[in-house]
Amino acid sequence: MFFYSENYNYPLHKWDGQPKITINPYRYQVVFEHIKAILGISINDFLMDTNIDFNEILLEMGSIHSKEYLDALQEDAYYYAYCFGEFELSKTPIGLLRKTFLYPQLAHALGTYEATRYAIDKGFAISLGGGHHHALRDLGEGFSLINDIAFAAQKLGDKKILIVDADAHRGNGVAQIVGQLKNIFIYDLYNCENYPTGDEYKEFIDYGVELLPLTADKEYLSIFKKYLNESVDEVSPELIIYNAGSDILHGDSVGYLDVSLDGLRQRDEMVAQMCKNKNIPIAIVLSGGYKQEYFFEVSNSIANMAKILTPIH
Ligand SMILES: [Zn+2]
Repeated sequence: MFFYSENYNYPLHKWDGQPKITINPYRYQVVFEHIKAILGISINDFLMDTNIDFNEILLEMGSIHSKEYLDALQEDAYYYAYCFGEFELSKTPIGLLRKTFLYPQLAHALGTYEATRYAIDKGFAISLGGGHHHALRDLGEGFSLINDIAFAAQKLGDKKILIVDADAHRGNGVAQIVGQLKNIFIYDLYNCENYPTGDEYKEFIDYGVELLPLTADKEYLSIFKKYLNESVDEVSPELIIYNAGSDILHGDSVGYLDVSLDGLRQRDEMVAQMCKNKNIPIAIVLSGGYKQEYFFEVSNSIANMAKILTPIH
């Protein structure tokens, strides 16, 4: 089952004199349209309430973010400028910033949580958003304002969860917020010379694997497989949250790895196949991946996972 809502997108088109944001504000909608076309499904095959009470969800975020930080997101444009690396945003009216960036990421958090609930119940779910793994308890970074993965993992209580973070960047926010919880384990494979630099919160990552820049298919897939098997065997999770970042692809503007489209498909397939074989529920989120030419193939790989995981009756 897929989770998606129009609220996922960042409606930058409504701005005059808009700053140049390095992400496609309609990335999620593009993937949604591709998935519908590839699988021949309709809007009815997607779950998600579009009528979201954002104030209520913002209050819920007090479980993972500090009150000071959540208040700042209501009042201070600087936080948005810092998080998205766009100085121009600091001059933008705060109400517009909330609608453009905060509300979509709250919708992503809700979608990630609902996907985990659905996966536990029915075996698998895919949210066509989420993966904002850099959001720290007190600060948003790296396009991540609200940490949907930490929110979902914590809200599930004492379930034994393995977070498989295959985005090209280290999930510093997830590690900080939930890495110390006894029932939550993290396997994170990332480019060691990328943001976030430094060692902060690395000690909370149970299986932290560092790759050199421009690591390509053969080495990437063999290392990914080794630690996937090891972490799953040791943890025996009741749920896997798979952060399926596609910024590992050759030519991505911020990932700096060198994995091909076929390599991405093989990685995703490996995870889906393993969950199917071992009967482990899995919730999948998109995370990073910014090269527009790849959106169709990335959607193809996600659709491929859905085909593998869909039970045949
Ligand atoms: Zn990334």
